[in-house]
Parts: sequence; C-alpha cells; structure tokens
Amino acid sequence: MIALSDTTAGLLQRCQTCGEEKVVEAFTHATGRDGITRYRYECKVCTATWKRNHLAKPDIRAKNRVYWNNYGKRLRTTREGWARACFKACKCRSRSKGIAFNITVADILAVFPEDCVCPALGRPLEFGRRSSMNPSLDRIRPELGYIVGNIAIISMRANLIKQDASAEELRQVASWTEEARALAESGATRPWRDPASSAALVAPRQAGPMKREILLDLPRG
Ligand SMILES: [Zn+2]
Repeated sequence: MIALSDTTAGLLQRCQTCGEEKVVEAFTHATGRDGITRYRYECKVCTATWKRNHLAKPDIRAKNRVYWNNYGKRLRTTREGWARACFKACKCRSRSKGIAFNITVADILAVFPEDCVCPALGRPLEFGRRSSMNPSLDRIRPELGYIVGNIAIISMRANLIKQDASAEELRQVASWTEEARALAESGATRPWRDPASSAALVAPRQAGPMKREILLDLPRG
C-alpha cells in the first residue's frame, strides 16, 4: 500500500504487477481514520486476474469452505483463539464507548485461570458452544477500562450478574433475594420487604398538584 494524501484524485500510480501507469482510481483504496487514502500496490485488473487464477486451482474452493466454516469454532474452542477474539471485541468496544484500553492478547492469556474455573462462581469455564459459562473479560473497576492490572477472566454468567454493580449493591441484591425467597416459601403473597420496614426506606407518595397545574405555573416565553 502506498500512502497518498486525499487530494490525489486523478494522479497516476504505477501498478507493481503489470507495470502500467494508471490513474489512482484504478487501484483498490481506502481512507483511514487518519484521513489518508491508501492505494493498493497493484491495479484492480491485476487483482481480479490473480483471484480468477487462484480460484481455478483444484480444490481451493473446498479448502476455503472448510477453513471459513471452522473459523468461528477455532476461536471458540481454544484459549488462544478465545483470547484473540476477546481482544478484538474489547478493543472495538473501548473505542465506541470511549473506555481506556492498553492490553494485549498476552495480557488476557496471563490472567486466564490456570484451572479453567470461574473464580467468582467456582464452576468450570466452557468453550465450544454458547454457554453462560463461556469465559468473559471483566473490568475489575469498570470505570478504569481495559488496562493492565484491572482485568480478570470470569464466566459470562458472573459478568452479567456483576455488570457495573458495586460489591455493596451485589450484597444488597443477594440479601433481598434470600429474604424474598424465604417469604415466598413461607406462603406470603407479597414476597418483598414488609411495609413497616420499607416505610423508613421509601418516602411516602404525597398528593401533589396535577402535572398540568405545574406546567401552567411556568413563566411564558
Ligand atoms: Zn496491473
């Protein structure tokens, strides 16, 4: 690829395959995030010729089919494959969400649990098929992003439960779950905190003015 500025429309470039000088539009090109348009080293005609000859080779289509049919499986069934796919997805996510990112595939593999067990739930991580026990990359302190020292590998299930919750929030939800379950099993029809104790937590609803009246009170303009 030869880097040229974006103002090169109509300029000439020599194809490195057929040796002909052609306008840059005759070459496959793409404009990068940096605003620079890069042109392929050979012209579109030469690329098309190469592709036609390549696909005419015996069994090449069958080989390609096997390669791509197993592409996703390779990523899902091995630690290394998973780490590579995870790296790519996280990098993409960090860019669209504006999250800090400075990890490599090696950093992900370095924190992978030796025993392949989710450290949060204590159950084996699974590869190979979509499962809630698939490994997933956790940001220990979500606000810091994907940076070295802030990543851990836990099961998808643990990560979904955690989301961006604090330890205190998770404890609150856990104790509520326990209470509500116990109440429901004891035959209560409203298995949540009883009104007497929640009255202190939630301010009672007050009969206020209608919304319409509030709107009418606003200054015009
Ligand atoms: Zn050419």
